[in-house]
Amino acid sequence: MLNASLKQLSAMLAARKISSVELTSEFLKRSRALNPTYNAFITLDEETSLAQAQAADTLIASGRGQSLTGIPIAQKDIFCTKGWLTTCGSKMLSNFISPYDAHVIGRFNAGGAVNIGKTNMDEFAMGSSNETSFYGPVKNPWDTAAVPGGSSGGSACAVAARMAPAATGTDTGGSIRQPAALCGISGLKPTYGLVSRYGMIAFASSLDQGGPMAKSAEDLALMLNVMAGFDARDSTSLEREPEDYTRDLEKPLEGLRIGLPKEYFVKEIDEDVARAVEAAIGQYRKLGAKTVEVSLPNTKLSVPVYYVLAPAEASSNLSRFDGVRYGHRAPDYLDLNDMYRKTRSQGFGAEVKRRILIGTYVLSHGYYDAYYIQAQKLRRLMAQDFAGAFEQCDVIMGPTSPTVAFNLGERSSDPVQMYLSDAYTIAVNLAGLPAMSIPVGFGHKNRPVGLHIIGNYFAEAQMLNVAHQYQLASDWHTRMPKE
Ligand code: GLN
Repeated sequence: MLNASLKQLSAMLAARKISSVELTSEFLKRSRALNPTYNAFITLDEETSLAQAQAADTLIASGRGQSLTGIPIAQKDIFCTKGWLTTCGSKMLSNFISPYDAHVIGRFNAGGAVNIGKTNMDEFAMGSSNETSFYGPVKNPWDTAAVPGGSSGGSACAVAARMAPAATGTDTGGSIRQPAALCGISGLKPTYGLVSRYGMIAFASSLDQGGPMAKSAEDLALMLNVMAGFDARDSTSLEREPEDYTRDLEKPLEGLRIGLPKEYFVKEIDEDVARAVEAAIGQYRKLGAKTVEVSLPNTKLSVPVYYVLAPAEASSNLSRFDGVRYGHRAPDYLDLNDMYRKTRSQGFGAEVKRRILIGTYVLSHGYYDAYYIQAQKLRRLMAQDFAGAFEQCDVIMGPTSPTVAFNLGERSSDPVQMYLSDAYTIAVNLAGLPAMSIPVGFGHKNRPVGLHIIGNYFAEAQMLNVAHQYQLASDWHTRMPKE
């Protein structure tokens, strides 16, 4: 059952072979047992999860079950969840019980899914290793000496270790795809605007996007069916006809054109990663796809551009954490300014402070034109690079991360080295495109390797088809770490 797909679990629930209470108890038991080792969850609340499971059983019994009714889903602790502690991995929100549900949480609730717990993450989603969390690092279940990736490291770990059948994540510069790659699971970052950001604690609003993390592409499609959709409460939510993201899963790949950017296959990738990715591309050729070389000439600039724009937006978004309305407030202070200063000094960790400093700097008078405006112009050029490439191909492929999971502590004192983990993923957010990562093998020390699949705007169904066909022909996505 631990390896069952969402479709299989749903069929078992519908046929009353298992109840949601039984299923949820099983995953809760496993989560409780493994969490002291992996630290994937910040909050587990057995009573609330089981009450939801009970309600799901009633719904199923009355014949009103939907695709995810009764299925336990782990929720990244960035999604405001009514009645649940919602910390965003920060001391600043370590006492924040959300009074409302994020749109994504509301959609899962409406579909009768069970919230099995809130997952650990880098503080305010800033990081690539889950080491910036106030709640301590998450371990990679394939090798506890390694990081799980970040910022959705708790969600990736929970799915990889089969503590939950599926989870949610958010991706500002790679935070769904990079941890999915490093933990050997599948993850999808949708086209910007497809999934509402309402109630998703903001990091960099023009880049942030929520998405599903699961074992397989088929599971991701079922999750996306629930998560996507217009929401008037998010001004960047797109008003589009609802889609069934499972509709193209079974299409053969004959004639698919895969673009391989020449800037991606360079000496900076580790050899073990390159080998697994090339083998996966070989498999695609066997499935009838053709490869074409494309060029994304501004690839090298994506990390520097992102580290101007994302901190700029973060410095503005994080100004709301002032100790006045909610969250942490310094216990002792002299006056209002002192209260702000102490609250923010105590409430934020080092990486968050670094980003606020950079963001404030690049937005300040005299530097705004030199940094922020220049970065915005480059952002547009990067989107144009992708548009040019998609004239020659249907999807773009490459490695999700230039290396397999690195060791805990290995990069924490070197921010630039850490930022380079997202060299392949960031440009996608800058362009607003959809992309995913699927497991395609193992590298150094038997740590997982992910294949990055980038699609054109709104090509989610096609990308899921591309990923699903590979998964029909391989079994990497069914591999489970040993305990
Ligand atoms: N690792 C990147 C950062 O630290 C991206 C994080 C994310 O996608 N939330 O900003």
